[in-house]
Amino acid sequence: MQIYSDNQRRLANIIEKDATRSNWTDWKWHVRNSIKSIDGVERLLGIHFSDKEREALRRTTEKFPMAITPYYLSLIDAKDYRNDPVFMQAFPSIDELRIENHDMIDPLHEDEDSPVPGLTHRYPDRVLLHVSNTCAMYCRHCTRKRKVGDRDSIPSREDLRQGIEYIRRTPQVRDVLLSGGDPFMLSDEMLDWLLTEIGSIEHVEVVRIGTRTPVVLPYRITDELVEMLKKHHPLWINTHFNHPAEITASSKQALAKLADAGIPLGNQSVLLAGVNDCPRLIKVLNHKLVRNRVRPYYLYQCDLSEGLTHFRTPIGKGIEILESLRGHTSGFSIPTYVVDAPGGGGKIPLMPNYIISWTANKVVLRNYEGVITTYHEPAHYEPTYCDRECKTCNLQLREADAEEKAIGIESLLADWDDTLSLTPEENERMGRRIDAA
Ligand SMILES: *Cc1c(COP(=O)(O)O)cnc(C)c1O
Repeated sequence: MQIYSDNQRRLANIIEKDATRSNWTDWKWHVRNSIKSIDGVERLLGIHFSDKEREALRRTTEKFPMAITPYYLSLIDAKDYRNDPVFMQAFPSIDELRIENHDMIDPLHEDEDSPVPGLTHRYPDRVLLHVSNTCAMYCRHCTRKRKVGDRDSIPSREDLRQGIEYIRRTPQVRDVLLSGGDPFMLSDEMLDWLLTEIGSIEHVEVVRIGTRTPVVLPYRITDELVEMLKKHHPLWINTHFNHPAEITASSKQALAKLADAGIPLGNQSVLLAGVNDCPRLIKVLNHKLVRNRVRPYYLYQCDLSEGLTHFRTPIGKGIEILESLRGHTSGFSIPTYVVDAPGGGGKIPLMPNYIISWTANKVVLRNYEGVITTYHEPAHYEPTYCDRECKTCNLQLREADAEEKAIGIESLLADWDDTLSLTPEENERMGRRIDAA
């Protein structure tokens, strides 16, 4: 598909009489003309819903608003729209109002694990900063559905200062993720300011931006934006393609601009029932991504947020997909499959089991073909005793001594930590111990 196809020209002219190609490739035109009503979609796609359906859709959009960029809408095949992967990601489903028992408003506890407004500090060395409350297109499968359209605004510098100040006074933060909403909904000037502020913090080693604009609004990736971003290396970008149909001439051009600016690109997909829950489809998607210099990073199990039940697959589907990738295709075409732990536990990686059994000197493993093999453990391995004194260690790291505190399971493995077991709070057996009181 070329940039500004006949279909896109047709849509542009329905939206605005005498719209031109330069309107179409102007990202602000798309934001201005984003489609927010059921009528609008009907008119542009030439489709019609029954009165009953419209009423149910109206109730759905009251709770979870809709916004679709003309560009993203132009990718929909109107003849088979109900099965169209772009339509399903962009257009509300009446199933969104179905709330199941285990659904939650904020399953990842992003709002709870938040020391200052708009910042989530979950892992030891990195934080997530919500720098925008809005997106070009509202994904129907958004994990932050609770916030969509809520405060549909661009935060001011004052709003962002609290997050920046938190990072400045928290020296363990070496990696800052800008998320939102979509950070690329901010102006170039605002982003430049933000990246300059964060870049001036000495302990911040890397900044990442999560954006779906290459997928839903590729014209946002302008030469000016890229010139500005280049000044802020090391900068990484993760985008969010879910289906091969999203990789178009326009999105390829956006990705090429970013990659040419030396920005390492990753992709985070979400596994969605009826959209991409197919091993072959995910493989084709990942092949297309790597051809466009994008490394598949994560494949997410759909979160337990309210309004997503109809998108959820069993975890088994994800395992099956991973089984179909490892060994069958390039290692760098394989994302890590993760479940983001309900309750804020962070991402948990999942994959098929490759260890079959174990003895004192051998491990029995299987490969992707089902070949079962044995790996002989070394007979003379001498572990280096770790006292965390890296300066004098024979491995010559030559860094300042490491902290003595270990977290979680790591503490059970560590030489320098004598934690014997991890016990859940309020363990009944512990409560029965004589010295418990
Ligand atoms: C996903 C996520 C990160 C980053 O995790 P990585 O595995 O480093 O990509 C950081 N903070 C929060 C709250 C997250 O959800």
